[in-house]
Amino acid sequence: MRQLVITSGKGGTGKTTITACFIALERRAALCDADVDAPNLHLLLHPDLLKEEEFRGARRAVIDRDKCQDCGECEEHCRYGAITNQTIDPFRCEGCGVCVWVCPNEAIKLEDVVTGVTITSRTQYGPFAHARLEIGAEASGKLVSAVRRNAEQLAGGEDLVIIDGSPGIGCAVIASLSGVDLALVVTEPSVSGLHDLERILKVARHFGIEAVVCINKHDLSPELSDLIGGYCSSEHIDLVGRIPFDPQVLEIIRQEKPAEQLLATDAGRAIEAIWQKVRSRLFLTA
Ligand code: SF4
Ligand code: SF4
Repeated sequence: MRQLVITSGKGGTGKTTITACFIALERRAALCDADVDAPNLHLLLHPDLLKEEEFRGARRAVIDRDKCQDCGECEEHCRYGAITNQTIDPFRCEGCGVCVWVCPNEAIKLEDVVTGVTITSRTQYGPFAHARLEIGAEASGKLVSAVRRNAEQLAGGEDLVIIDGSPGIGCAVIASLSGVDLALVVTEPSVSGLHDLERILKVARHFGIEAVVCINKHDLSPELSDLIGGYCSSEHIDLVGRIPFDPQVLEIIRQEKPAEQLLATDAGRAIEAIWQKVRSRLFLTA
């Protein structure tokens, strides 16, 4: 089984649109939305829900008031300021466990808390693993890893898992990249786009992940697109395609139309050409 992640150095580059086009072209893959912070692949895939499971991705301290002797040790040692008058603020508690360790009366314990839900669904393109974070919960690499495990299990006989990855360079991104066969990094022609591209490529290189690049909306700044092309060439990284800005894409997304409608646009045709190159890099046969 091969695994492809579509990722970017920051959000809003169009990676989900590109992922949806790949999915509509392939139609024989297991699908994964690992962008748990801002999941929106489902809007283009129109999934039928099969199962939801609570995900406990964090720990929080809880005080047993019957055992507490009001000594104040826990409040004094909590570096996050999460304890006031022997009451724990769950939004400040980081679950570090220091209060458990310093309490002389064994009055504090850590409890697992629900930070999200993992979801498995059926789509016309293949089985789909995704997730929903609880309001206020931090996106965690643990939740991304859980969604990826679900996708691998759903893959069954499929040869490929297509992953819409987390953007940026934090732990959720590392969990998205971990163990994949290829990362397609989507960038856009701006100075910050180039900076973010350099950062994520460094992360991919650090973890030994093969990466290729495509530029979305390249015609918005041909000069900066060429600068990005020059950077890729100097780093010996394949620039597998340039996608034009296409207002039709925005309209299809806004109307939540099925993913295959994206393929009939100018941008969709450029994405199809990229898909053929990515497929061959993954050694996928027809
Ligand atoms: S677990 Fe850590 S952050 Fe949470 S209340 Fe205890 S000391 Fe503070
Ligand atoms: S350290 Fe333990 S006994 Fe002391 S105030 Fe905190 S919970 Fe109560």
